[in-house]
Amino acid sequence: MDKLALYGGQPVRSQMLYYGQQWINEADIQAVLSSLTSGFITQGPEIDKFERAVADYVGVKYAVAFSSGTAALHGACYAAGIGAGDEVITTPITFVASSNCVLYQGGTPVFADIDPHTYNLCPEDTKRKITARTKAIIAVDFTGQPVHMEPFRELADQHGLVIIQDAAHSLGAEYAGKKVGTLADMTMFSFHPVKHVTSAEGGMIVTDNEAFYQKLILFRSHGITKEPELLHHDEGPWYYEMQELGYHYRMTDLQAALGTSQMDRLDGFVARRRAITARYTEAFGDLPGITVPYQHPDANSSWHLYILRFDLSLYPAGRKELFLAYRAENIGVHVHYIPVYNQPYYEELGYAQSQCANAEDYYQEALTLPLYPKMSDRDVEDVIEATKKIIGFFLEKPISI
Ligand SMILES: *Cc1c(COP(=O)(O)O)cnc(C)c1O
Repeated sequence: MDKLALYGGQPVRSQMLYYGQQWINEADIQAVLSSLTSGFITQGPEIDKFERAVADYVGVKYAVAFSSGTAALHGACYAAGIGAGDEVITTPITFVASSNCVLYQGGTPVFADIDPHTYNLCPEDTKRKITARTKAIIAVDFTGQPVHMEPFRELADQHGLVIIQDAAHSLGAEYAGKKVGTLADMTMFSFHPVKHVTSAEGGMIVTDNEAFYQKLILFRSHGITKEPELLHHDEGPWYYEMQELGYHYRMTDLQAALGTSQMDRLDGFVARRRAITARYTEAFGDLPGITVPYQHPDANSSWHLYILRFDLSLYPAGRKELFLAYRAENIGVHVHYIPVYNQPYYEELGYAQSQCANAEDYYQEALTLPLYPKMSDRDVEDVIEATKKIIGFFLEKPISI
């Protein structure tokens, strides 16, 4: 048995393998360069092109680009009419932006538990958390697996709720043959470098709802419009109106040019992510005390994250020791996510009590392995080798320092 690098042995690889990373090629560079010299570096034609590319890809009418996925979520909460006193139900196993967007609007995030298999928001617990004040559900496609939308749609229809899908992880995924982006009232994509395609920073809302679309357009640019048919009155060609309190949440043309160029390779990126995860699951499926990601038969994930769960009765050294062991082997594992309500800011808001049992259990046991399209087959095999080395070590000597 090989000695773990954590305890002084040779690491599986000499350089750190990150958990996620962008893939920029020559076409991307040329796209940004030609935008840079085109005369517009912001508020030019590239934004429309990027919005069209994403809207056409998923098959919706409208897309609105934002400076980040977080800004896009803020816009969606605004468009949904979230305000003081309104409750919005979401999952605790997500990035903080999924619920911060509710706070930005003065609303109250309410956390419902996750499904123990998919780790997505649980429809039954969501139903239990609905009150007369509930206005919306923010469902997160955690790891790239789309949420099971039917039960949320039923709840939304019964209670008059807006469904916002946080699809930061799931561009390119499908549910029951339908592309993510067509399932909810508004769907958010993020273009942060670790996501499926990148614009360095950036986000987008897609929707088929024209009223939401108009609000989103206003919101991302100070609440200002120059559209003749929207003006209360018109004083001349210079005239514009600030009709709502919006923000400056625009994306630049440089970013949009990069995003459009990346969209050309989205299907290839997703295919590569699927191939890597198939190899992982083949390698890890039978290991003792390890749970590989469960996939609902109707879901075709686009695989942002690949997460292993460790049964801590077999690995009493605990998740922290496993994490450190991987890192010492130069495998850049991560943990997604700390339950949002346990963040100090949320605890101070009074969320300390809102413990979700499945989310807590999940958090103790989860480890995210490296996954991104540019990983080489050698990188993938390094992750597998390190996993077998670490598991072998802990199973033979289960009590450790
Ligand atoms: C990345 C991410 C966001 C925020 O996106 P940014 O573009 O970084 O602002 C929101 N929700 C989830 C689940 C994410 O992973």
